[in-house]
Amino acid sequence: MAEELKSKAAYTPKNAWSVYRGETEQKAVREFCDSYIDFLSRCKTERETVAYCTEYLRAHGFGDDPAGKAYVTNLNGKCLFAFKKGTAPLKKGVRLIIAHADCPRLDFKPHPIMEQAGFAQAKTHYYGGLRKYQWLARPLALHGVIVKENGDVVTVCLGEGEGEPVFTIEDLLPHLAQNQVTKTVRAAFEAEKLNVILGSRPLDTDEDSKVSEPVKTAILDLLLEKYGVSEEDFLSAEIEVVPAAKASYVGLDSSLVGSYGQDDRICVYTALRALTDKEGESENCVLILSDREEIGSEGSTGASSRFFEYCLADVVQAHEPETALRHTILASYALSADVTAGLDPDYQDVHEKTNCHSLGYGVCFEKYTGSGGKYGASEAHAEFVGMMRGLLNRRGIPWQSGELGKVDHGGGGTVSLFLAALGMNVMDCGPALLSMHSPFELSSVVDVYSSYQAYKAFYEG
Ligand code: MN
Ligand code: MN
Repeated sequence: MAEELKSKAAYTPKNAWSVYRGETEQKAVREFCDSYIDFLSRCKTERETVAYCTEYLRAHGFGDDPAGKAYVTNLNGKCLFAFKKGTAPLKKGVRLIIAHADCPRLDFKPHPIMEQAGFAQAKTHYYGGLRKYQWLARPLALHGVIVKENGDVVTVCLGEGEGEPVFTIEDLLPHLAQNQVTKTVRAAFEAEKLNVILGSRPLDTDEDSKVSEPVKTAILDLLLEKYGVSEEDFLSAEIEVVPAAKASYVGLDSSLVGSYGQDDRICVYTALRALTDKEGESENCVLILSDREEIGSEGSTGASSRFFEYCLADVVQAHEPETALRHTILASYALSADVTAGLDPDYQDVHEKTNCHSLGYGVCFEKYTGSGGKYGASEAHAEFVGMMRGLLNRRGIPWQSGELGKVDHGGGGTVSLFLAALGMNVMDCGPALLSMHSPFELSSVVDVYSSYQAYKAFYEG
């Protein structure tokens, strides 16, 4: 067979399947993804993710002392800062990876429980950019905390156990949807109809006693009896409605991972493992798991919070008091580890195919995000991109580079701008997904592994 004639200067991204074709590599990819799938099935909220990662880091020698060789701390159990000391001085900067632990979901409203037409339902307010129709007519679970007035915390995880009842939001039957189907998607699915069915059995009473909301009353009685929770307790609660079910491999060849929450827990897990598995002692390494990315990173646990700066200040003060924090920050390199869009086989027209990312081609370097006219982008400097290119190429780690989608067709941002605001060198770097923000996001197993290897290489320096 004749080979295609190409210039010596031509560039083609390597398919990660060809890089990891060997038996050893295939086994490593599979083992890594087995534990990744287990992690996804266990962690469905930012609190659960931070708790899991804290426990994992503690098991790998991370302690409470900023002066220690490995340090982990968190704020409100929702965001995390971890530090691993290297032999290099801190005035030479740190290698920092930031990923976010929150995902789009439905949150219970402050007064959630109501009754209509014989059903007790929970009213929700959606969190993050989600497509409302994807949350209808599917099994859902409730995760979160209810804080009593005396400070006691009731941890909620309902709808995940074997044989346990799940929850759902009903959808309109096609027979009566003639009006709805002519509307725009935005108008057809209303936020105020995202009510979760909690039950339908009325209170058991005598014929003549009057109860105005018999189903809601029965549900409230059940909540009090089973969990010791009253209606007022929901005013100080954080209940998140998430898809019930575990993560799994997808496809006859198990080449993909399908799960809720891969944006951005795919980067949380790969960066976590990169930090604990890294070899080489020179670099000072930081891992940050931020919260509230999906709604703009505001809040004390979001990437715009000063918390992470304070943590780094504690570390520098403890190890190298003669170094000013700003000098460490300015000498640092950061990867904003977040997902990007993969070329969608059925919606190829939203991508500009010369500059898109494809599943199966490794971790993606996104020099800039933002939207039309690069608005809102904190662009990575060519020098940093060059450094990362060299690092991955030398180690034979597959990677690709592109944009989110066609110019002027939309866009999106990450937390990179908050690190860039400190004067840090930062680049967006993470795997591509299909069905992003849906209850069942897809990633490629080789991209999961490539991301892990890329983050590990970055930490190793
Ligand atoms: Mn994200
Ligand atoms: Mn997102």
